[in-house]
Amino acid sequence: MDMREEVSEVYNTPLLDLVFKAATVHRMYNDPAMVQRCTLLSIKTGGCPENCNYCSQSSHWSEDTGLKAEKLMGLEEVYEVQKLMGLEEF
Ligand code: SF4
Repeated sequence: MDMREEVSEVYNTPLLDLVFKAATVHRMYNDPAMVQRCTLLSIKTGGCPENCNYCSQSSHWSEDTGLKAEKLMGLEEVYEVQKLMGLEEF
């Protein structure tokens, strides 16, 4: 089967069949009961000089929000939060 045929076959497969096949392959290599937990942590709230609109770490919105910049969290403090929350990664 060439690439076009493979792509066509996937494209024409019903969605739930694809989900089932993907889950089957996933279970071959992973424990289905395992869930990796991670989260975002603002380590320099209001203290970043960049202006990314979505980010609470940007200092560009402090006038609008009244948010005061916090100091950059230390690495040990970050690891402590990670340990407390039982997270594998941020
Ligand atoms: S404002 Fe932008 S550059 Fe600064 S921490 Fe947020 S995402 Fe990163």
